[in-house]
Amino acid sequence: MNVIGIDLGGTRIKTGIVADGRLLASAVMEAAAGKGLRVHLPFIKDHILRLMKQTHTGPVSSLGMAFPGLVDTGQNRVIGTSGKYEHAPALDLAAWACQELGMAFKMENDARLACLGEWKYGAGNGSSDMVMVTLGTGYGTAAIINGQILRGKHFQAGILGGHFIIDFTNKDRICSCGKYGCVEAVASTWMIGEAARKNPLFEQSRLKEVSRIDLAAIFDLSKRGDALAMVLQNHCLKAWGVGLVNLIHAYDPEVIVIGGGISNASDTLIPYFDRFIAERAWCPWGQPLIRPAQYPDTAAILGATLLFEC
Ligand SMILES: [Zn+2]
Repeated sequence: MNVIGIDLGGTRIKTGIVADGRLLASAVMEAAAGKGLRVHLPFIKDHILRLMKQTHTGPVSSLGMAFPGLVDTGQNRVIGTSGKYEHAPALDLAAWACQELGMAFKMENDARLACLGEWKYGAGNGSSDMVMVTLGTGYGTAAIINGQILRGKHFQAGILGGHFIIDFTNKDRICSCGKYGCVEAVASTWMIGEAARKNPLFEQSRLKEVSRIDLAAIFDLSKRGDALAMVLQNHCLKAWGVGLVNLIHAYDPEVIVIGGGISNASDTLIPYFDRFIAERAWCPWGQPLIRPAQYPDTAAILGATLLFEC
Protein backbone atom coordinates (compact mmCIF):
# COMPACT_ATOMS: atom_id res chain seq x y z
CA MET A 1 0.00 0.00 0.00
CA ASN A 2 1.42 3.41 -0.98
CA VAL A 3 1.17 6.11 1.66
CA ILE A 4 2.19 9.77 1.50
CA GLY A 5 4.22 11.11 4.42
CA ILE A 6 4.57 14.87 4.79
CA ASP A 7 6.86 16.67 7.24
CA LEU A 8 5.95 20.31 7.90
CA GLY A 9 9.09 22.20 8.85
CA GLY A 10 9.44 25.90 9.57
CA THR A 11 11.11 26.69 6.23
CA ARG A 12 10.75 23.47 4.24
CA ILE A 13 7.98 20.95 3.68
CA LYS A 14 9.22 17.45 2.83
CA THR A 15 6.98 14.93 1.10
CA GLY A 16 7.60 11.25 0.44
CA ILE A 17 5.79 8.26 -1.01
CA VAL A 18 6.37 5.15 1.08
CA ALA A 19 5.46 1.52 0.49
CA ASP A 20 6.20 -1.14 3.13
CA GLY A 21 8.72 1.09 4.86
CA ARG A 22 10.61 1.97 1.67
CA LEU A 23 10.80 5.57 0.54
CA LEU A 24 9.95 5.37 -3.18
CA ALA A 25 10.26 9.08 -3.94
CA SER A 26 10.58 12.37 -2.11
CA ALA A 27 10.55 16.10 -2.77
CA VAL A 28 11.02 19.32 -0.85
CA MET A 29 9.19 22.64 -1.17
CA GLU A 30 9.97 25.98 0.44
CA ALA A 31 7.62 27.13 3.17
CA ALA A 32 7.10 30.08 5.48
CA ALA A 33 5.52 28.76 8.66
CA GLY A 34 4.92 32.32 9.87
CA LYS A 35 2.25 32.75 7.18
CA GLY A 36 0.12 29.94 8.60
CA LEU A 37 -0.90 26.57 7.18
CA ARG A 38 -4.04 27.52 5.22
CA VAL A 39 -2.10 29.45 2.54
CA HIS A 40 0.21 26.46 2.03
CA LEU A 41 -2.52 23.87 1.48
CA PRO A 42 -3.02 24.48 -2.30
CA PHE A 43 0.75 24.24 -2.82
CA ILE A 44 0.95 21.09 -0.72
CA LYS A 45 -1.81 19.52 -2.83
CA ASP A 46 -0.01 20.42 -6.09
CA HIS A 47 3.26 19.19 -4.64
CA ILE A 48 1.76 15.80 -3.75
CA LEU A 49 0.01 15.37 -7.11
CA ARG A 50 3.18 16.32 -9.03
CA LEU A 51 5.27 13.86 -7.01
CA MET A 52 2.76 11.06 -7.66
CA LYS A 53 2.68 11.85 -11.39
CA GLN A 54 6.45 12.12 -11.78
CA THR A 55 7.20 8.88 -10.02
CA HIS A 56 4.37 6.69 -11.41
CA THR A 57 3.96 5.04 -8.04
CA GLY A 58 0.33 4.09 -8.55
CA PRO A 59 -2.64 4.86 -6.31
CA VAL A 60 -2.10 6.36 -2.87
CA SER A 61 -4.75 5.76 -0.24
CA SER A 62 -3.54 7.70 2.77
CA LEU A 63 -1.71 10.82 3.90
CA GLY A 64 0.19 11.05 7.20
CA MET A 65 1.35 14.47 8.43
CA ALA A 66 4.18 15.36 10.83
CA PHE A 67 3.30 18.67 12.52
CA PRO A 68 5.67 20.88 14.59
CA GLY A 69 3.34 21.35 17.56
CA LEU A 70 0.94 19.57 19.89
CA VAL A 71 -1.48 17.24 18.11
CA ASP A 72 -4.60 15.48 19.39
CA THR A 73 -4.23 12.21 17.49
CA GLY A 74 -7.71 11.06 18.49
CA GLN A 75 -9.39 14.09 16.90
CA ASN A 76 -6.76 14.59 14.13
CA ARG A 77 -6.40 18.20 15.24
CA VAL A 78 -3.57 20.55 16.12
CA ILE A 79 -4.05 21.72 19.71
CA GLY A 80 -0.93 23.81 20.33
CA THR A 81 1.62 25.74 18.27
CA SER A 82 4.73 27.76 19.07
CA GLY A 83 5.42 30.20 16.26
CA LYS A 84 4.90 27.78 13.36
CA TYR A 85 1.60 27.50 11.43
CA GLU A 86 -0.18 29.36 14.22
CA HIS A 87 -3.74 29.02 12.90
CA ALA A 88 -3.56 25.28 12.26
CA PRO A 89 -5.87 24.44 15.22
CA ALA A 90 -8.77 25.99 13.28
CA LEU A 91 -8.31 23.68 10.28
CA ASP A 92 -10.04 20.37 9.59
CA LEU A 93 -7.18 18.75 7.72
CA ALA A 94 -8.86 15.35 7.47
CA ALA A 95 -11.74 16.97 5.55
CA TRP A 96 -9.25 18.83 3.34
CA ALA A 97 -7.35 15.60 2.50
CA CYS A 98 -10.60 13.78 1.73
CA GLN A 99 -12.08 16.54 -0.46
CA GLU A 100 -8.92 17.62 -2.30
CA LEU A 101 -7.00 14.36 -2.59
CA GLY A 102 -9.48 11.59 -1.80
CA MET A 103 -7.11 10.27 0.88
CA ALA A 104 -7.53 9.11 4.46
CA PHE A 105 -5.64 11.43 6.82
CA LYS A 106 -3.80 11.11 10.14
CA MET A 107 -1.43 13.47 11.89
CA GLU A 108 0.98 13.48 14.83
CA ASN A 109 3.73 15.62 16.38
CA ASP A 110 6.85 15.65 14.16
CA ALA A 111 9.35 14.58 16.86
CA ARG A 112 7.15 11.59 17.78
CA LEU A 113 7.00 10.52 14.15
CA ALA A 114 10.77 10.87 13.68
CA CYS A 115 11.14 8.72 16.79
CA LEU A 116 8.71 6.12 15.39
CA GLY A 117 10.51 6.10 12.02
CA GLU A 118 13.93 5.55 13.60
CA TRP A 119 12.53 2.96 16.00
CA LYS A 120 10.85 0.88 13.32
CA TYR A 121 13.38 1.25 10.48
CA GLY A 122 16.51 2.98 11.75
CA ALA A 123 18.88 3.43 14.68
CA GLY A 124 16.39 2.33 17.34
CA ASN A 125 15.34 -0.87 15.60
CA GLY A 126 15.25 -3.84 17.94
CA SER A 127 14.89 -1.79 21.14
CA SER A 128 11.79 -1.62 23.34
CA ASP A 129 12.62 1.64 25.13
CA MET A 130 14.03 4.55 23.20
CA VAL A 131 14.38 8.30 23.36
CA MET A 132 14.98 10.43 20.30
CA VAL A 133 16.47 13.90 20.42
CA THR A 134 16.46 16.14 17.36
CA LEU A 135 19.08 18.87 17.46
CA GLY A 136 17.74 21.28 14.88
CA THR A 137 16.10 24.65 15.23
CA GLY A 138 15.18 23.58 18.75
CA TYR A 139 15.67 20.47 20.91
CA GLY A 140 12.93 18.07 19.82
CA THR A 141 12.31 14.93 21.86
CA ALA A 142 10.06 11.88 21.97
CA ALA A 143 10.02 8.60 23.88
CA ILE A 144 8.99 5.00 23.37
CA ILE A 145 8.43 2.96 26.54
CA ASN A 146 7.89 -0.78 26.42
CA GLY A 147 7.22 -0.66 22.68
CA GLN A 148 4.63 2.13 22.89
CA ILE A 149 5.05 5.72 21.78
CA LEU A 150 4.44 7.97 24.78
CA ARG A 151 1.57 10.48 24.37
CA GLY A 152 0.09 11.14 27.83
CA LYS A 153 -3.28 12.51 28.92
CA HIS A 154 -2.95 15.77 26.95
CA PHE A 155 -0.65 14.56 24.12
CA GLN A 156 2.35 16.30 25.73
CA ALA A 157 4.30 13.36 27.17
CA GLY A 158 7.80 12.82 25.83
CA ILE A 159 7.84 15.73 23.42
CA LEU A 160 8.59 18.60 25.79
CA GLY A 161 12.17 17.58 26.62
CA GLY A 162 13.37 20.80 24.96
CA HIS A 163 11.36 22.64 27.60
CA PHE A 164 12.78 20.87 30.62
CA ILE A 165 14.00 23.79 32.74
CA ILE A 166 17.77 23.69 33.20
CA ASP A 167 18.37 27.33 34.21
CA PHE A 168 15.85 28.53 36.78
CA THR A 169 17.55 31.86 37.49
CA ASN A 170 17.86 33.42 34.03
CA LYS A 171 14.79 35.27 32.75
CA ASP A 172 16.62 37.30 30.08
CA ARG A 173 15.76 35.12 27.11
CA ILE A 174 12.15 34.07 26.52
CA CYS A 175 11.86 30.54 25.13
CA SER A 176 9.80 29.60 22.04
CA CYS A 177 7.23 28.24 24.53
CA GLY A 178 6.91 31.66 26.17
CA LYS A 179 8.60 30.58 29.44
CA TYR A 180 12.20 30.77 30.69
CA GLY A 181 15.26 28.62 31.27
CA CYS A 182 14.35 25.68 28.98
CA VAL A 183 17.02 23.52 27.29
CA GLU A 184 16.36 25.11 23.90
CA ALA A 185 16.34 28.63 25.35
CA VAL A 186 19.86 27.87 26.62
CA ALA A 187 21.20 26.08 23.49
CA SER A 188 19.61 25.87 20.05
CA THR A 189 19.85 27.35 16.57
CA TRP A 190 17.20 29.97 17.25
CA MET A 191 19.10 31.54 20.15
CA ILE A 192 22.74 30.97 19.20
CA GLY A 193 23.14 33.98 16.86
CA GLU A 194 22.15 36.44 19.56
CA ALA A 195 24.35 34.67 22.13
CA ALA A 196 27.31 34.92 19.73
CA ARG A 197 26.81 38.61 18.99
CA LYS A 198 26.54 39.48 22.70
CA ASN A 199 29.79 37.69 23.56
CA PRO A 200 32.91 39.88 24.02
CA LEU A 201 34.86 37.45 21.77
CA PHE A 202 32.56 38.21 18.81
CA GLU A 203 34.67 41.05 17.38
CA GLN A 204 37.65 38.71 16.95
CA SER A 205 35.60 35.71 15.80
CA ARG A 206 35.11 34.47 12.24
CA LEU A 207 31.44 34.07 13.19
CA LYS A 208 31.25 37.80 12.44
CA GLU A 209 31.71 36.96 8.73
CA VAL A 210 29.07 34.21 8.65
CA SER A 211 25.79 35.21 6.96
CA ARG A 212 23.69 33.05 9.32
CA ILE A 213 25.08 31.91 12.64
CA ASP A 214 23.69 28.43 13.26
CA LEU A 215 24.87 25.26 14.97
CA ALA A 216 26.57 24.01 11.79
CA ALA A 217 28.65 27.21 11.63
CA ILE A 218 29.52 26.93 15.33
CA PHE A 219 30.66 23.31 14.97
CA ASP A 220 32.57 24.02 11.75
CA LEU A 221 34.49 27.00 13.13
CA SER A 222 35.07 25.28 16.45
CA LYS A 223 36.94 22.52 14.60
CA ARG A 224 39.12 25.22 13.05
CA GLY A 225 40.03 26.69 16.43
CA ASP A 226 37.81 29.79 16.53
CA ALA A 227 37.75 30.79 20.22
CA LEU A 228 34.12 31.96 20.37
CA ALA A 229 32.85 28.99 18.36
CA MET A 230 34.64 26.66 20.80
CA VAL A 231 33.06 28.43 23.79
CA LEU A 232 29.58 28.25 22.25
CA GLN A 233 29.97 24.61 21.15
CA ASN A 234 31.03 23.64 24.65
CA HIS A 235 28.10 25.58 26.11
CA CYS A 236 25.62 23.79 23.78
CA LEU A 237 27.10 20.35 24.45
CA LYS A 238 26.76 20.88 28.20
CA ALA A 239 23.15 22.09 27.94
CA TRP A 240 22.18 19.19 25.66
CA GLY A 241 24.00 16.75 27.94
CA VAL A 242 21.98 18.01 30.91
CA GLY A 243 18.86 17.59 28.77
CA LEU A 244 19.85 13.99 28.00
CA VAL A 245 20.41 13.16 31.66
CA ASN A 246 16.94 14.53 32.45
CA LEU A 247 15.46 12.45 29.62
CA ILE A 248 17.20 9.33 30.95
CA HIS A 249 15.85 9.97 34.45
CA ALA A 250 12.36 10.58 33.04
CA TYR A 251 12.01 7.73 30.52
CA ASP A 252 14.67 5.08 31.31
CA PRO A 253 15.64 4.32 27.68
CA GLU A 254 18.06 1.65 26.48
CA VAL A 255 18.86 3.64 23.32
CA ILE A 256 19.03 7.38 22.64
CA VAL A 257 18.99 8.35 18.97
CA ILE A 258 20.41 11.75 18.04
CA GLY A 259 18.96 13.32 14.89
CA GLY A 260 18.60 16.75 13.34
CA GLY A 261 20.69 19.18 11.37
CA ILE A 262 23.98 18.55 13.16
CA SER A 263 23.68 14.81 13.66
CA ASN A 264 26.53 14.57 11.10
CA ALA A 265 28.75 15.92 13.90
CA SER A 266 28.21 12.60 15.68
CA ASP A 267 31.98 12.06 16.02
CA THR A 268 31.93 15.02 18.44
CA LEU A 269 28.46 14.59 19.95
CA ILE A 270 28.40 10.92 20.85
CA PRO A 271 31.72 10.61 22.77
CA TYR A 272 30.85 13.82 24.63
CA PHE A 273 27.38 12.58 25.60
CA ASP A 274 28.74 9.18 26.62
CA ARG A 275 31.19 10.83 29.02
CA PHE A 276 28.63 13.35 30.30
CA ILE A 277 26.02 10.66 31.01
CA ALA A 278 28.59 8.44 32.74
CA GLU A 279 29.44 11.36 35.03
CA ARG A 280 25.96 12.80 35.66
CA ALA A 281 23.18 10.21 35.21
CA TRP A 282 21.96 7.84 37.90
CA CYS A 283 22.00 4.52 36.02
CA PRO A 284 23.08 1.63 38.26
CA TRP A 285 22.33 -0.85 35.44
CA GLY A 286 24.79 0.70 32.96
CA GLN A 287 23.99 3.44 30.49
CA PRO A 288 21.94 3.87 27.31
CA LEU A 289 23.54 3.45 23.91
CA ILE A 290 23.81 6.77 22.08
CA ARG A 291 23.43 6.39 18.31
CA PRO A 292 23.23 8.82 15.39
CA ALA A 293 19.95 8.79 13.46
CA GLN A 294 19.94 6.55 10.41
CA TYR A 295 17.39 8.69 8.54
CA PRO A 296 18.04 12.27 9.72
CA ASP A 297 16.13 13.79 6.78
CA THR A 298 13.26 11.36 6.33
CA ALA A 299 12.51 9.64 9.66
CA ALA A 300 9.39 11.79 10.26
CA ILE A 301 8.08 10.93 6.76
CA LEU A 302 8.58 7.22 7.43
CA GLY A 303 6.95 7.64 10.85
CA ALA A 304 3.97 9.50 9.36
CA THR A 305 3.20 6.53 7.13
CA LEU A 306 3.28 4.24 10.19
CA LEU A 307 0.18 6.02 11.55
CA PHE A 308 -1.85 3.80 9.25
CA GLU A 309 -0.44 0.58 10.70
CA CYS A 310 -1.97 1.02 14.16
ZN1 LIG B 1 10.54 26.42 26.50
